Amino acid sequence: MRNIFRDFLNLFFPDLCVVCKERLSEGEQHICSNCLLLLPKTNFHLQPDNRLEGLFAGRVPFRHIAAFAYFVKGGSVQSIIHELKYNHNPRIGNFMGELCGEALKDSPFISTVDVLVPVPLHPKREKGRGYNQSLEVCKGISLATGIPIDSETLIRKINNPSQTKNSRFDRWKNVENIFSITNEKAFENKHILLIDDVITTGSTLESCAKEILKSEGSAISIFAVGTAG
Ligand SMILES: [Zn+2]
Repeated sequence: MRNIFRDFLNLFFPDLCVVCKERLSEGEQHICSNCLLLLPKTNFHLQPDNRLEGLFAGRVPFRHIAAFAYFVKGGSVQSIIHELKYNHNPRIGNFMGELCGEALKDSPFISTVDVLVPVPLHPKREKGRGYNQSLEVCKGISLATGIPIDSETLIRKINNPSQTKNSRFDRWKNVENIFSITNEKAFENKHILLIDDVITTGSTLESCAKEILKSEGSAISIFAVGTAG
């Protein structure tokens, strides 16, 4: 009965692929099989010394840095991230998180990760969006890998303005000291996988990592759904 109702609804409001906007077939969710196959994956999680590790080298001590797919203007990952951030669709974050988590299971480092930590939004921004997109990605990764999430300890104190027009130096100044830790013990002796939606300059992640690394014995790895191509 429920299926008949769903099929009926689907006649008038068909689920469309977030990327190509074609109608999804039965069993497909959010992204059609064809667009999934064509996702421009980086496979950075299998490559030590990948380009992202080069981007962070010398800025903050880390174990591993990777992103799932290349974010290019007008590309599929841009459509997915736009849907996640601006179209009130947290479920696409869970879905992408699960894909990321399945991929991460093949990486040599995921078994040493103790906890997933999403890059926090300022409470005001999170209230406006209704959710933190990075936490939604974490939920999918957690489902696939079984690694727990801590979204309480690392918080954002300052709601920085849009960064799009600033230079890299200004952006770094912008994100310095905007994060803090609510419980000093929570990250002690833990390997933390910090999760973001997209890595561009890395300044926000760098700032988060520095805050977390103040906890004794902690280590950082970083993972995002997308990275600038
Ligand atoms: Zn598609």
